[in-house]
Amino acid sequence: MIINADLHIHSRFSSATSEKMNIQNLALVAPLKGIDILATGDCLHSGWLQEIKRCKNIDEGTFEFEGTRFILNTELEAQKRVHHLLYFPSISTIEDFKERIKHKSKNLETDGRPNIDMSGEELAQIAKDLDILIGPAHAFTPYTAMYAYFNSLTECYGSLSEYISFVELGLSADTYFADKIKELHRLTFLTNSDCHSPHPARIAREFNRFQVNDATYVEIKKAILRIKGNKPVLNVGIPPQEGKYHESACRSCYTHYTLEEAQRRRWKCSCGKRIKKGVKDRINEQSEFAEPEHPEHRPLYIHLIPLTEIITKAIGQANPFTQTVNRRWSELVSHFGTEIKILLEIDYDEIAKFTAPAIAEAIHAFRERKIIVHPGGGGQYGKIELPSDDKIIEIKMGPNDTQTSLTDY
Ligand SMILES: [Zn+2]
Ligand SMILES: [Zn+2]
Repeated sequence: MIINADLHIHSRFSSATSEKMNIQNLALVAPLKGIDILATGDCLHSGWLQEIKRCKNIDEGTFEFEGTRFILNTELEAQKRVHHLLYFPSISTIEDFKERIKHKSKNLETDGRPNIDMSGEELAQIAKDLDILIGPAHAFTPYTAMYAYFNSLTECYGSLSEYISFVELGLSADTYFADKIKELHRLTFLTNSDCHSPHPARIAREFNRFQVNDATYVEIKKAILRIKGNKPVLNVGIPPQEGKYHESACRSCYTHYTLEEAQRRRWKCSCGKRIKKGVKDRINEQSEFAEPEHPEHRPLYIHLIPLTEIITKAIGQANPFTQTVNRRWSELVSHFGTEIKILLEIDYDEIAKFTAPAIAEAIHAFRERKIIVHPGGGGQYGKIELPSDDKIIEIKMGPNDTQTSLTDY
């Protein structure tokens, strides 16, 4: 079977997250987005784990609430502020893991994404001992990520680098950028939302499609390891230009700079503040190939823009969190089933018959890849714009990126 999975979110027990991040709300929005399975996030936190335990037990590592499944995972911050993602086979493994790291953490019970004073190598050793999957989260972001502080997997994970089976690309990168780096070719790419709110603009803004025999931890693990016929078949994400660290830019006034210009200015903006190196420049610095070279196993990557964002632009709302946008989104998904279907599969005429012309036209522009993306940088998200007659520019995407129907995968 084919499943859609978003494998990195945060609960309300992490800092800077929405109070609405509970199992009920997640299980309400996920199916409307078209998502079958979520990673729980924050599973080291006792309060969040209590909530997970109240779900129906499918097996040791898989839980279900009103049709949406959850697998056990957390993000944590290790030495040098590098973020790692971990996936656990069972609740007892979480307990064993906590025993091994608790003397190295001061906020294990107070922050859903705890700080652990250990190196990547030390953590990977414990993960390996306990049969936990581990890999770098949003690997290219200029803060709190592997390539922000290290130049290779081996620098980060030492003798355990062979144990790493996946890398999370993060919102500002995609397969076409990441496959310029040779050491990543053997890894599975994960594309996850890292959302802090269950709002449909956030949850599953990136997700993975896997071929598995069941929507369970064991089957997803096999898909990440690409064994027994299980595998990722598609990565889906926002255009990387929309990510808030895509280009090098000032983190105060958000002026964008080319890599050469930033280097010439010694990473100091004309306003006096620091320029933060963008993911695009970091990857190009790190890359062996000028153009991406994809390994045989690499699935297609397609770019999606959340439907709420498309509606926002179509009807001239300030942001995707207004009641009007929510109402329009709910009308559409309750009529057609899921957001993924609306964006990619449902016949355009059907959509045009059902919704406001401006919304239908905006969905059409998205499908025709005519939505303009102004790149983000310095911590500011990129902005999307609908094409006007005098200004039609296509989003520049990777060479293999055809906006094919998701039903093909
Ligand atoms: Zn993180
Ligand atoms: Zn500035």
